Amino acid sequence: MSGEPEISVIVPVYNEEENVPLLLERLVPVLEKIGDYQILFALDPCTDGTEAVLRRAIAANPRIGYLRFSRRFGQPAATMAGILHCTGRYCAVIDADLQDPPEVIADLHAKAREGFDVVYATRRSRQGESWMKRKLSAAGYRLIGRISEVNIPLDTGDFRIMSRRVVEELRRLSESHGFLRGLVAFVGFPQAKIEYDRHERARGSGKYNRYLGSLKIAFNGIFGFSTTPLSLLLWTGIAICALSLLSIAAIVFTKFVIGQEYALGIPTIIVLISFIGGVQMASIGILGQYIGRIYDEVRRRPQYIVDVAENVPPRTPEADRKP
Ligand code: UDP
Ligand code: MG
Repeated sequence: MSGEPEISVIVPVYNEEENVPLLLERLVPVLEKIGDYQILFALDPCTDGTEAVLRRAIAANPRIGYLRFSRRFGQPAATMAGILHCTGRYCAVIDADLQDPPEVIADLHAKAREGFDVVYATRRSRQGESWMKRKLSAAGYRLIGRISEVNIPLDTGDFRIMSRRVVEELRRLSESHGFLRGLVAFVGFPQAKIEYDRHERARGSGKYNRYLGSLKIAFNGIFGFSTTPLSLLLWTGIAICALSLLSIAAIVFTKFVIGQEYALGIPTIIVLISFIGGVQMASIGILGQYIGRIYDEVRRRPQYIVDVAENVPPRTPEADRKP
């Protein structure tokens, strides 16, 4: 397969042997209507039969290919690798578990052709996710939306389509984390959204720790795209100092002006000490989040290492040219 297909679809996969055939069954007809296409699976090394399933799929359809990484780098890195290796004029990202309906890609593409560089699919509803996960994730999206320096859309995952020039800008960013939502928002250009209903996983179970996995991604959104927590720290510190000064003044005043003797009491002291201790720990923790990210960036480690590229055509020399 060579040349530049109209659309490349990136699918990050980890242990999805049952879902891959179901996905292809629905995805291929959608793409055939769009035109020439490429389906590029980005594989964390699987412990089930996913890779064998993919080899059979490639034998039957030469537009399919996959990258397998040297180890499990995780979904964000896998997705980024797929994006940077694809050749399509448009590049869409979709999960393998059919939570995002493949049919929506036709709408994303149609909207992009109207002149948008990014069309992201916003979740109107989410099925098959617990009340707690939905609430926490809604709160997380709102917090990130409120404090981040770029405009990260609410209730939107990686399910989206991007133009070639957005992909090339992503390549130039070369940050060492793959918080796609933030990076794409940073790149800018005309962006639009369409709404869809998020379904339950077709087969198998989620590949993340339900809450911790999402929390890690949320932290990238918060600390990777906002310095508000640092300002918050400063203001909390100032407020605590001001309160302490006021308290001292109040104590001096009651003792020497009013002349009233009273015991502050050991409990009050314990509460105060633990309160200040907590504030300090949290502050150091927040600093740590930024320092950890600075460390990640200065080491310049790659986000992923490709082990096997099966039926992945090389990108054009134009795309390979370094900025
Ligand atoms: N995934 C991956 N690497 C991982 C975990 C997940 O490539 O380490 C893939 C997974 O196969 C799926 C997508 O990322 O196609 C989303 O994963 P999942 O459905 O578990 O997450 P959620 O739906 O909760 O976002
Ligand atoms: Mg899922």
